[in-house]
Amino acid sequence: MAAEVRTTCPYCGVGCGVLAKVAADGSVSVRGDPDHPANAGKLCSKGSALGETLGLDGRLLSPEIGGRAAGWDEALDLVAKKFSDTIAAHGPDSVGFYVSGQLLTEDYYVANKLMKGFIGCGNIDTNSRLCMASSVAGHRRAFGEDIVPGTYEDFEEADLVVLVGSNTAWCHPVLYQRLLAARTKRGTRIAVVDPRRTATGEDCDLFLPIRPGTDVLLFNGLLAHLVRRGALDADYIAAHTNGFDAATTLAAADAPTVARVAEGCGLDPADVRRLYDWFAATPRTVTVYSQGVNQSAHGTDKVNAIINCHLATGRIGKPGMGPFSVTGQPNAMGGREVGGLANQLAAHMGFEDSAAIDRVGRFWNAPAVARKPGLKAVDLFEAAADGRVRALWIMGTNPAVSMPDAARVRAALKACDFVVVSDVVRTDTTRFADVLLPAAGWGEKDGTVTNSERRISRQRPFAPLPGDVRPDWWIITEVARRMGFAEAFDYATPAAIFREHAALSAFENDGARLFDIGGLADIDDDDYAGFQPMHWPLRAGRGARADRLAGDGKFPTPDGRARFVAVRQEGPALPVDGAFPIALTTGRIRDQWHTMTRTGLVPRLMAHAPEPAIEINPADAAAIGLREGDLARVESRYGSGRAKVRLTDAQRIGQAFLPMHWSGRFAANAAAGPLSTPVTDPFSGQPELKHVPVRIARE
Ligand code: SF4
Repeated sequence: MAAEVRTTCPYCGVGCGVLAKVAADGSVSVRGDPDHPANAGKLCSKGSALGETLGLDGRLLSPEIGGRAAGWDEALDLVAKKFSDTIAAHGPDSVGFYVSGQLLTEDYYVANKLMKGFIGCGNIDTNSRLCMASSVAGHRRAFGEDIVPGTYEDFEEADLVVLVGSNTAWCHPVLYQRLLAARTKRGTRIAVVDPRRTATGEDCDLFLPIRPGTDVLLFNGLLAHLVRRGALDADYIAAHTNGFDAATTLAAADAPTVARVAEGCGLDPADVRRLYDWFAATPRTVTVYSQGVNQSAHGTDKVNAIINCHLATGRIGKPGMGPFSVTGQPNAMGGREVGGLANQLAAHMGFEDSAAIDRVGRFWNAPAVARKPGLKAVDLFEAAADGRVRALWIMGTNPAVSMPDAARVRAALKACDFVVVSDVVRTDTTRFADVLLPAAGWGEKDGTVTNSERRISRQRPFAPLPGDVRPDWWIITEVARRMGFAEAFDYATPAAIFREHAALSAFENDGARLFDIGGLADIDDDDYAGFQPMHWPLRAGRGARADRLAGDGKFPTPDGRARFVAVRQEGPALPVDGAFPIALTTGRIRDQWHTMTRTGLVPRLMAHAPEPAIEINPADAAAIGLREGDLARVESRYGSGRAKVRLTDAQRIGQAFLPMHWSGRFAANAAAGPLSTPVTDPFSGQPELKHVPVRIARE
């Protein structure tokens, strides 16, 4: 009888452990890993259907050049030559990589090393830019490094959990189940702040249907309230922070009274006061935020407005307390660890520190380490559209559908001289590839991922590589070798890459940098094979978590203190107007993942929502002349699409919701990406996907 293989779910950032078993007929069954600390045996609907997504339908099985099948040598030689020639003719800034939170950390590491250390350019960005870049920027502003000081246990040890812009019940289901179980046990209060009454908002103790984009006002009001009530931790503020006066002065001016906050946020003043009173009176409070906060032109300010309240009360880095960003993808955090964002260098070091640039260059023995940040996602495709980027390699993601203003992205892919796409299946994006490279998928890949609580787990293979498919790390290193960097990319296994990644995190690190997994730098192949899920930091050695991040009140800033950031409420980048009067928010639905290339194959997952529906308030529908089930045309300044109308009072008047998943692959339906605005947050570069002015009419 086949043994079960211990691996990790490839979907959301909860990072559940999965036991997978291949039957004699080749079918795969999965169950939750009872020993994985993230999920203790549970899986959600998407995770439990993983075994049904593994057929070869639509799989890319061999390299293709210009639409014809090719061998690996020919394809890799061509990619290396085109990139080398482009760099020689137009400089290193003329090329770019657009990668994915679906990549494993080892894949990400070699892609980042090739671009930032050997090509000498920062132009590697990721679809995680669309997901949690504002949290990264907010963490760096407040903490000096992109750290998540909490753990999932904190959800279970809190007395109050405030969920902001997070439909946790659908988007992080197993974590939500942990929270509900804790609530049953200890009576945890749950407050939900969200413009939509989602499944999470249906079952909570306090629901605040906030006007989209006004979160800074709500949390500035909370900070001002904490000052007025004297509900501060003065000792913590004095010993461990800077900037309290500036932040509280601006917060008090911005949000002087509960009534002003309620008016600005479109909330009942009694609800605002209740939230503030609960927060003030509850030491064990965790504030959870995800895409509703991040996907905004002011997402970074929103993150800092939340963190300010935790710093003011000293509720950070302690059991049951803290600000907590939940990531959307399985390896958004792993990508952050290795520098998979254009504005990060590697191992959570940044370009603003020239010593860090030199250090990374020394460690890699790099001939041309990048000295400035590269282009973030939206700017990268803009540069491809106008000819500044002439060779682009897209790995494991579908920007032709998922990027905002996707029509412009498609035009950019058409205009770009040379486009490489490595992926598991054909997508809307693979149509634009000059060279198509077949990559290994879940069940075939071998490496590590890091979940939202920065726990590193293994993805292990249980199926052979079909056809001519190869792992991403292999593809990248083969191109690097052909570009003349053979010595630096001489890895035989993902374990060898992982060891180097761990060693870099500890290189010349006297403990000031918190991302340190140096205890794993000498892990041997057997231990890597049997690796048990662990949090970082791991500087004390394998199996032992050295300390709770920020538990001692020390932060990786030059003076070791956290920083309050003075922020002010600003409106959305593109307000609604007479031409586009409805504010559209976008998001996930329970049983689908991204552009549905995998979950769309499973009938029982499709049954939950067989087609895209635009959810609007009955009052708006009546004004437009729409009824339940009508086909509506949804139009923004950037694109249009069609969707069935679903009437719900869970939607505020003047707002609508559209799932992000559907694309041309399934029907000529509305897809959120093509409609969305490419306006971005000035600090994080994250697009404002949660506030898109649209008009809706009967089709
Ligand atoms: Fe996978 Fe997330 Fe569901 Fe866990 S909660 S099984 S990680 S999709």
